[in-house]
Amino acid sequence: MDNETHARFLDAIDRWLLAHRAGLLARVGALVAFPTPSPPGRNTDIAQRAIAAWFAELGGEVAWLPVYPGDSDVVGRWPAATGATGRSLLFNGHIDVAEVAEEGWESPPFALTEREGRVYGRGVGDMKGGLAAAIFALEALRACGARPGGEVIIESVIGEESGEWGTVACIERGFRADLAIVPEPSGLRPCGQGGVITGWVTIQSPQTLHDGVRARTIHAGGGLVGANAIEKMMRLLAALNDLERHWAVTKTYPGFAPGATTINPAVIEGGRHPAFMADRCALWITVHFYPDERWEDVTGEIEEHLRRAAAADPWLRDHPPTFAWGGRSMIAERGEIFPAVALDPDAPGLAALGRAHAAIHGEAPVATMWPSVSDAGWLARAGIPTIIYGPGELAEAHTTNESIAVDDLVDAARVYARLIAEWCGLEVAP
Ligand SMILES: [Zn+2]
Repeated sequence: MDNETHARFLDAIDRWLLAHRAGLLARVGALVAFPTPSPPGRNTDIAQRAIAAWFAELGGEVAWLPVYPGDSDVVGRWPAATGATGRSLLFNGHIDVAEVAEEGWESPPFALTEREGRVYGRGVGDMKGGLAAAIFALEALRACGARPGGEVIIESVIGEESGEWGTVACIERGFRADLAIVPEPSGLRPCGQGGVITGWVTIQSPQTLHDGVRARTIHAGGGLVGANAIEKMMRLLAALNDLERHWAVTKTYPGFAPGATTINPAVIEGGRHPAFMADRCALWITVHFYPDERWEDVTGEIEEHLRRAAAADPWLRDHPPTFAWGGRSMIAERGEIFPAVALDPDAPGLAALGRAHAAIHGEAPVATMWPSVSDAGWLARAGIPTIIYGPGELAEAHTTNESIAVDDLVDAARVYARLIAEWCGLEVAP
């Protein structure tokens, strides 16, 4: 299509979106009405059927990917027109929402409520609002008689709030694109993210000793070599604190305050009964790392450091700790991984998003780092240039009375539509 037609389409699509605020809110409201908190999870299929119906209504090819009983991913695909040469674009959003305690809400969390330019409800920001805005952008194209010039894929995934591998299931199914946008609440700023991995450090004694022999294991001449696993874990805890401090002064990454590479001793489990010496102690840690790090390297550093600390202790030397990293679910496996996302300042996708944002907001956005983690990391790890960019503020996510400005929702849809035109090109719908 020539430049003049392209510009006319852009104008018509933007005007359509500005005129259909109520339509977008109705879509967001329909999604918020499905209670999909995770944990407990296993409750999203009914919402995903609504998404699948919306995809079909917009002419998408719909793929249904069961992940857990009651939790399935839905992927909508709009293949490029024959002969079209535009680049492909993928949107990825999670349909599950954070846990919710009903008390303290001024309006029911699963009923969208509008007050003074904002809408309230669980997931309006994180992230049913952003997901709906992306789909609504395609709806605007279709309503205006346009279609993307390259393939568009929209993934509605499960389990993100519990570290479950909904997005990984989409990657394993083979969905890829030249650019991925994750509409998490980033205040309409393009963001990368650091990574997170959880892990268990376990000390296990081969002997189970009665409390009555403790004196023989700790006093001169006792003659019994044994250890209390809880006390031995104190050595490793201290060593982890040392490593955390060392990272804080040796590692940096633009967009993060120094010391963001934390090792949090989150949960400790040990011992069996006061009548016994603790023969087992397990420590659950949460590790944050920078966008230029891979979890394999970071966990390798921790293991090496703790092995050295263990080697300096006569009992731990012979009974070193064991490690279990990550997991596919905080619910089913008590473990999770979120890979990091680096932003390449020269990447064409970032430039295209910047132009789309500037077209709506009048100035280019400032790219930065998102202080939380999301499934964007999995897409980046699969080799897809990935950017977090969505409406709403992270500070609102997971809160009581979660809310988002209606203008931000509409603006997100406008930028997404513009990005589709920028990145994939536009074709006249058949
Ligand atoms: Zn989220």
